[in-house]
Amino acid sequence: MEDTLVKNVLKGGEFIIKDSTPEDIFIPEQWDEEQLMIKQTVVDYVGQVEGKSGKIEHQVELLSLAGELGFLGCHIPDEYGGMLLDTNTVTLICDHLGAIGGGWTTSFAAHTGIGMLPILYYGSEAIKQKYLPELAAGTKYAAYCLTEPSSGSDALAAKTRADLSEDGTNYIINGQKMWISNAGFANVFIVFAQVDGDKFTGFVVDADSQGISLGAEEDKMGIKGSSTRQVFFENVAVPVENMLGELGKGHLIAFNVLNVGRFKLGALAVGGSKKSTDIAIKYANERKQFKQSISNFGAIQFKLAEMAIRSFTLESSIYRVSDMLKDAKDDLVSKGHSYSDALLQAAEEYAVECALMKVYGSEVADYVVDETVQVHGGYGFSEEYPAARAYRDARINRIYEGTNEINRILSVSMLLKKAMKGQIDIVGPAWNVQKELASMPSMNQPEGEYGLEENAIKDFKKMVLMVAGAAAKQQMDGQLNLKEEQEILMNVSDMMNDCFNAESLILRVKKLKGMDKEVSQEVYDAMLKVFIHDATSRMQKSATDALASFAEGDLLAVMLRGVKRFCKYPPQNVRSLRRVVAKTLIDANAYCL
Ligand SMILES: Cc1cc2nc3c(=O)[nH]c(=O)nc-3n(C[C@H](O)[C@H](O)[C@H](O)COP(=O)(O)OP(=O)(O)OC[C@H]3O[C@@H](n4cnc5c(N)ncnc54)[C@H](O)[C@@H]3O)c2cc1C
Repeated sequence: MEDTLVKNVLKGGEFIIKDSTPEDIFIPEQWDEEQLMIKQTVVDYVGQVEGKSGKIEHQVELLSLAGELGFLGCHIPDEYGGMLLDTNTVTLICDHLGAIGGGWTTSFAAHTGIGMLPILYYGSEAIKQKYLPELAAGTKYAAYCLTEPSSGSDALAAKTRADLSEDGTNYIINGQKMWISNAGFANVFIVFAQVDGDKFTGFVVDADSQGISLGAEEDKMGIKGSSTRQVFFENVAVPVENMLGELGKGHLIAFNVLNVGRFKLGALAVGGSKKSTDIAIKYANERKQFKQSISNFGAIQFKLAEMAIRSFTLESSIYRVSDMLKDAKDDLVSKGHSYSDALLQAAEEYAVECALMKVYGSEVADYVVDETVQVHGGYGFSEEYPAARAYRDARINRIYEGTNEINRILSVSMLLKKAMKGQIDIVGPAWNVQKELASMPSMNQPEGEYGLEENAIKDFKKMVLMVAGAAAKQQMDGQLNLKEEQEILMNVSDMMNDCFNAESLILRVKKLKGMDKEVSQEVYDAMLKVFIHDATSRMQKSATDALASFAEGDLLAVMLRGVKRFCKYPPQNVRSLRRVVAKTLIDANAYCL
């Protein structure tokens, strides 16, 4: 009994091979008094700024106010002017700030994430002291210049050059960057350039340096309030001490910073998704057709329930990852690592989970805003209502911080790399699944209230191991080159995401069972059942698609029997279950979960 109360911290990617208990995870219902006060400050700020967030000319004012309230420095140590809150509180802040639309969240994420973190992680002490306090205070603003017209996903193919000056005191930067968020008002640019044409390196560059000019504001589909411009560098002299990290090691900066950026994007998507669901619930209650509220209709109730289920699941996963990052960071700090090094290494450890959260967060948000438009009917298409702007604003999330295709590919390749380096043992568990397939299926009935769901999730993990294990074996036998088979990588990534999210959801639902709460447990149980029901179909399809793409004959037949065996979660009455969820939302006239 005692043992189950000890928190078991999984290593990055280990969720595929190990189970967790409710005690292992953090859920938002565990916020303490101080965190609840911070949450209220954020909620007040959101209410105050929402009306201005869609205009570029207000971004500086709104960021500066966020700086005064401490939101911009919440992840920065106090010696550099920050507040250094714990990771879960930083996640809480991002989550609730995510409710702000119009492009403000992009300005915030570009400034605090990809803008400030390269300095925190890789700047010399003097550079940190010089730049971080003003960036944390919100009196100066940062932008991140990686993408170029001809290098987006293939970021390391950048052509911008940096050449050492004859006297050896400066690097001279020449080139062009594209799609740079915050470019119009940033004082500090993080710039990636090829030293001597081939050593990809990061620099901190003052935006008022001679030789920097900006393109016009891009005419974008959404996030119109965020500034997005090209940045041109013509013989821009940057002091050698402004180099970040080591010469030729800029890829480490670019990619490590993106790990945190991806997680943050997922956290911001939580707030955006809950807000949009809330708007849809209120509209559905208010709008009358056929002499009744449209929220009376089953088709609308389906949408409201599904929006809530996905938002709630995303929130569960995000706080689970947040707590993993927190534990890893705290552990490293206790072993003598500096805060910035610990933060960097923790994000690297959970890079697989960060990539999954980027994909899931952006796709939940897109689903929710799309259904919000639909619930609004024609009014959803009008700029007079908030649904249209939210729909346009959310779309970018699947494109930046690494497109969702790139993040899907990365999530699987990073997991396989960890396995090959011996950092996690996938081979042993995959072999156990093979042995299980060769044996008679167990006739034991699952035990406990959530036994069926727990078994389903264990089976989901077995399916990932079965598919990924078989593909990896074919790769080792020279029959398959997974790098060239992205469709299979996409399937495996989607299966991994469903495993992680289903487990995060069940752990939260089980943990909630023992807690005082306003919403009945029946609602959480209903959400869990709907999610597992739907995830079973998705798992079945992804596994079948992947297997049929590379296996044939007896091997395929055995594996497909495995898919059937691991997809035995009984069909649920999802109509009734979604109605239970929808009724709670409709009665509360709010996203109340
Ligand atoms: C509003 C906005 C703000 C941005 N802010 C910033 C910023 O602040 N700083 C910055 O540096 N950049 C920024 N970006 C750039 C953004 O990160 C890139 O647009 C993104 O990385 C994709 O690059 P790309 O546009 O060149 O598309 P491409 O790389 O050309 O991709 C086109 C399509 O091909 C797919 N694809 C590409 N390579 C592969 C592959 N190997 N395998 C499978 N599919 C592939 C992609 O997934 C995508 O679907 C921003 C972009 C926008 C639109």
